[in-house]
Amino acid sequence: MKVIDSISALRDTVNTWRRNGETVGFVPTMGNLHDGHLKLVKKAKAHNDKVVVSIFVNPMQFGANEDLDAYPRTIEEDKAKLISVGADAVFLPSVAEMYPAGLDAQTFVEVPGISDSHCGASRPGHFRGVATVVTKLFNMVQPDDAFFGEKDFQQLQVIRALARDLSMAVKVHGVPTERETSGLAMSSRNGYLTDAEKATASAIFAEMQRLKAGIESGNTNFVELENIMVSNLEAKGFKKDYCQVVNAATFEPASDSDKELVLLVAMFMGKTRLIDNMQITRD
Ligand code: AMP
Repeated sequence: MKVIDSISALRDTVNTWRRNGETVGFVPTMGNLHDGHLKLVKKAKAHNDKVVVSIFVNPMQFGANEDLDAYPRTIEEDKAKLISVGADAVFLPSVAEMYPAGLDAQTFVEVPGISDSHCGASRPGHFRGVATVVTKLFNMVQPDDAFFGEKDFQQLQVIRALARDLSMAVKVHGVPTERETSGLAMSSRNGYLTDAEKATASAIFAEMQRLKAGIESGNTNFVELENIMVSNLEAKGFKKDYCQVVNAATFEPASDSDKELVLLVAMFMGKTRLIDNMQITRD
């Protein structure tokens, strides 16, 4: 696996592959890799001749009071994991390589509408940071295919809109969420939790399943179902950021006539913010 830290070396590597007629898959990450990330890499390997994984903790997508400095950085372990799943190159740019003009002077990309609610409302500027860094990375790698987790459902929709609106050639793929056997969605932020908190955090998945079963059995009182879920989780020590059933396309609160829904959840366990979601189809 090639380890690359400059944009020019990345372009040289990708150009060489392209001249050989090889397709390129791309998986952007912030590192501290777990089996969810590796699932994306395996999907990319199955789909493309060559796979680039980026590891970059993007300061532009963190708010002032968020965990940018504390975010886990485990580069050596990450490289070993990427080799084990057959990644062809890992791109590890510095902040200066990514933002040579500094963050404040940086041109940015913003996807209207879908970026405004839920994580966008709780984390102002977050999706601007995500859309900007992903656009830059797409320009650097120029992949045929890019792979993102459904774990970050709103982010996936922001990136789909970005690629469509800016006429990008890349095909964006969503990959189902990888979970612990307890049901807890794998996340680099789970490392902030104690063992006891981690055990409690699996309740999010159990409650999502319960709510989904309620809708599938015909209950359309979405607000009541959400309230039950929140009070069950609050009883276990969570604090709500948001918990809402929405139209999967518009992210507007679900209505009786909607068929494709998604339950979007963000909960605090102490200082740790956990997000999860579940897609629900009504017939
Ligand atoms: P991150 O390193 O958290 O920025 O995530 C990098 C990519 O991995 C994003 O596309 C995430 O949605 C995806 N991802 C994170 N956790 C999971 C998971 N548990 N299952 C599947 N994909 C994931």
